[in-house]
This record gives sequence, structure tokens and C-alpha cells, in this order.
Amino acid sequence: MYINRFSRTKASRKNAKIIFLLIVLIPASALLIWWLRDSNQSNSIQSSPTQSGQKKTADKTKEKLFNKNLYSVNDPTSLWAVVNKGRVLPNDYVPAGLRQPSGGDSNQSLRNDAATALEKLFNDALPSGYDLVLYSGYRSYSLQVGVYNGFVKSQGQQMAEKFSARPGHSEHQTGLAADVSSITGKCTLEQCFAYTSEGKWLAANAYKYGFIIRYQSGRQNLTGYEYEPWHLRYVGTELAAEINRTDQTLEQFFELPTYKLDAPYPDNSYQLRTGL
Ligand SMILES: [Zn+2]
Repeated sequence: MYINRFSRTKASRKNAKIIFLLIVLIPASALLIWWLRDSNQSNSIQSSPTQSGQKKTADKTKEKLFNKNLYSVNDPTSLWAVVNKGRVLPNDYVPAGLRQPSGGDSNQSLRNDAATALEKLFNDALPSGYDLVLYSGYRSYSLQVGVYNGFVKSQGQQMAEKFSARPGHSEHQTGLAADVSSITGKCTLEQCFAYTSEGKWLAANAYKYGFIIRYQSGRQNLTGYEYEPWHLRYVGTELAAEINRTDQTLEQFFELPTYKLDAPYPDNSYQLRTGL
């Protein structure tokens, strides 16, 4: 009897274990496996937006790091001075520190900082076989009067204003603009310069030396001028790199009014002034 009771007890314990396994442990294990899988999945789903979020934050940080107010766009002496059809320099403005860049066999001058940068650009182009020269640099107000009037006389005002600035509206008066050509003279001041190997090298490398191609192809109705692949404007390496990266014109970058190629000059121009 005791034996039977003992055996029965033993059997019922065994049954209890099986029932415990069936009811508690197996569903609990399944639950645990499901929970682990689910948490892994949600981690992997989260990782991709987090990574792209990090990239976006990095880009925004880069944009924030660039201080658009570091230099004035309204002061003629500023590295970032913006001169165009609606923004005029004082008639008597002459930049300080004009000098002829060494090499390039030119009697043209630029502001010292632009001249130094252009010398470096010319030197670095030489090993690739590109012998570049400064065709036209600083032009005084009175010289621009002669240039502009000459074009108006020969081509009419409307045509002339597509490529020649009115006196006071020329970047060349800042001493920061450089018309560059090949020493061979091929396509000098012509749009075909863009297709020469010198023009291609310039378009790809000018920004590394602080220059931008000021009047870009396809942007004539933003700059107000025909495409001039030879006209470089010195703005310093930081701004040139940023403009190259964001692919904009100077006006777009600083959110300034833009001008259509055929549009007449505005009646009231913004007057740049030292100290602004
Ligand atoms: Zn020019």
C-alpha cells in the first residue's frame, strides 16, 4: 500500500513536471525567443535612419560652420565684395596694394592677395603643360569708361552690356578679378577657351587657389552676363571651396538680387562704401 502510494506519488510528480513544461516553460521559451528576435529587428530598423540622421547632422554642421558674415559684401575693400549690375563701386575707389603678379609676362596688376594666389595657380599649372597669363587685371574707373564706351560704339548699348560692365559696375575695379588666357593666345576672351585643356584645368582647379569662375555657363540670367570661362574672381580659398561645393553663383550664395542677361540696369544701384 505504501509502495503503491509512493509509486502513485512518483507518477503524479512526473506528470506534474510534464504539465509544468507544457504549460509554463515552453510558452515562456517561445516568448523569450520572439522577444529577442523582435528587439534585434527593431535595432536593425533603427540603425539606418540613425546613420542617415548622423550624415544630415554632419552636413548641417558644415553649413553652420561656414560663417557667411565673416566678411562684408558691401565694402569695396572686402574680399567678398559683390559688384554687379545692381551694385556699384565709388567712382574714386582704387584698391590698396596693387602689384603685378610675377611670371606670366604681363603688365597687368591685381590686389596683393589675389596676385599671390594667381602666382601659385600659374606655377601649379606649369608642370601639366599649361602656361597661363594674366590678360587683364585691375581696371580703374576711368579705364572702364573707355572700355565700355568703345563696346557701346562698336556694338550698340544692348549688346555691349551683355559682356561689358558700366563704369563702377566692373569687378575689375576691385583688383580681385583676373581675365586669364593661355600663352598660346588660343581662344583668348572667347567661350571656346572652356574647351581648351587650359580652360578645363582652370575650371577644375581654380577654387583650390581661392578663385571662382564668376560668370558661369547656363547662369547668364542669374549673373546678368554671358558665360566667361576666363574671368576669375578671387574670394579666398574658404568661400571658393564652399561655392564650388554648393554649386551657386556669388549672388545666390549671399542671397542677393540676381540680374537677367537682357534686363536693363536698375535705376537705383546699391552703393558699396568703405566701412559698410
Ligand atoms: Zn573680366
